[in-house]
Amino acid sequence: MNKTYTNSKDIERRGLMYVLSSPSGAGKTSIATKLIDQDKNIDMSISMTTRKARPGEIDGKDYIFVNEDQFNKAIENNELLEWAEVFGNFYGTPRKAVEQKLENGQDVLFDIDWQGTQQLHEKVGKDLVRLFILPPSVKVLEDRLKRRGQDEDHIVAARMKEAANQISHWAEYDYVIINENLDESLGEVQNILNAERLKRERRVGLSAFVRNMTTKME
Ligand code: 5GP
Repeated sequence: MNKTYTNSKDIERRGLMYVLSSPSGAGKTSIATKLIDQDKNIDMSISMTTRKARPGEIDGKDYIFVNEDQFNKAIENNELLEWAEVFGNFYGTPRKAVEQKLENGQDVLFDIDWQGTQQLHEKVGKDLVRLFILPPSVKVLEDRLKRRGQDEDHIVAARMKEAANQISHWAEYDYVIINENLDESLGEVQNILNAERLKRERRVGLSAFVRNMTTKME
């Protein structure tokens, strides 16, 4: 049965999976939080991790905090869409929550690293839009990591080193944003999302809409 669309905004489209990757301290979390607040059609995928919660982090909201046994069980039971080891801890994306969101017509935002992005790309192909966020300079990255003050010094140093590794994967992404100014970057992230939503192949209801239009013109 073809649907008749009275409003072009109602045209059915496939949900998209929007990945934001960056080295720690590039401002990804601030952008992701603001995007989710502003746009009700996209929801965050909440990762599972074996890392300890930082002060202020809430279980079930920032991450699902688990121990290694629980994490391994999730892998064994094929409950994770992707997973990777980052800084000696394990991180993974619970499959069910993502599938439910997509089925409900919501887009899903992922804050995952390059390893997870590669795995998702292999699994879902075109439904994935990959965005990499760069800091404007090494100095800014270092200052942001130090100011954050949530991790011990040796962890900050390790994260700086790891940043170079993360950044080396920038060319595997569809879009790259240099985060000099949070509001400007947020605008760019939103513009890309809006443009991706309008792509012809995602709008599965488009042919019915056009058919309905052209039959009236005959
Ligand atoms: P943090 O410990 O600072 O919250 O995150 C460390 C890194 O792990 C970040 O680069 C973040 O994007 C990545 N990460 C968080 N969740 C996941 C996940 O579910 N899968 C993968 N592959 N990486 C993740």
